[in-house]
Amino acid sequence: MSRDKKHNFKFKHSLGQNFITDEFLLEDIADESGITKDDLILEIGPGNGALTRCLCDRAKYVVIVEIDKSLIPLLKSNLKEYNNVSIINADFLKFNFQNIINEFLSISDFRPIKVVANLPYYITSPIIQNLLQNPYICEMTLMVQKEVAERIVATPNNKDFGVLTLACNYFAETEMIMLVSKECFYPKPKVDSAVVHFKKFPQFVYDKLDSHITDNTNNQIIQSDEKLFKLIKASFAERRKKLLNSLSNAGYDKNSLATAFSKLGFDENVRAENLSLDDYKNLLNIL
Ligand code: SAM
Repeated sequence: MSRDKKHNFKFKHSLGQNFITDEFLLEDIADESGITKDDLILEIGPGNGALTRCLCDRAKYVVIVEIDKSLIPLLKSNLKEYNNVSIINADFLKFNFQNIINEFLSISDFRPIKVVANLPYYITSPIIQNLLQNPYICEMTLMVQKEVAERIVATPNNKDFGVLTLACNYFAETEMIMLVSKECFYPKPKVDSAVVHFKKFPQFVYDKLDSHITDNTNNQIIQSDEKLFKLIKASFAERRKKLLNSLSNAGYDKNSLATAFSKLGFDENVRAENLSLDDYKNLLNIL
């Protein structure tokens, strides 16, 4: 376990605690996230608050959610000169989002929230899924492991193109905005990182508070198209096989598939990674 001697803080590898030590990088992330003085910002996993300070300098209000109780005194001390930040000690994935909205509502009319975070890598996928399906979030600027970033922004016919890419393509426009060396963190992680920007499509963002479908933490979520994602997951379950075979192995009728492929002009040897999100939508419509 590494130690931050100045604050007598023990870094917990199990919580993905690799803090950014490069001041320029912190400013760059805040700049690239395009925050304005009107924006409400949520930061997941603020750590020691170094990125939070850059966000507070640029935004109207910032809510931070940190799971590690031992970081709360450090956060309070490092953020004491800011009056536009609320600190919440909670597990983001188990927390009722209404509490975060209430923090914002205490100072401002509601407007869609932007998320900026250097994510804890052990829960990257569930957090991204949660944010994509959360209708109160309009944009996310997220530091993730470089390999995950490559999967998020991959294009068809590429080995990185898969279920994660298509899930992101379904909800948002994505762009990799910077590559980050492992040297920029303490403790130094084993992997390099990258920052990805997500701009959600307008149909997945509410501009006012509304009641809708909720998950088991009572958070409002947008349901993705279940049939479409069933088809996509079945397609990639055996990604080296021909799509015709993997889908028929998954229970789709081979004759209907062959007819659909020919109507859509798909080669019979096509593999899962060769089709775009629109191709999958068209295939589902015909099947
Ligand atoms: N933002 C800081 C920075 O960039 O230097 C720290 C980022 S560090 C990669 C991830 C942070 O997420 C840690 O502070 C960790 O304690 C916190 N964290 C881990 N799991 C969490 C969870 N489920 N909910 C909220 N915070 C979490």
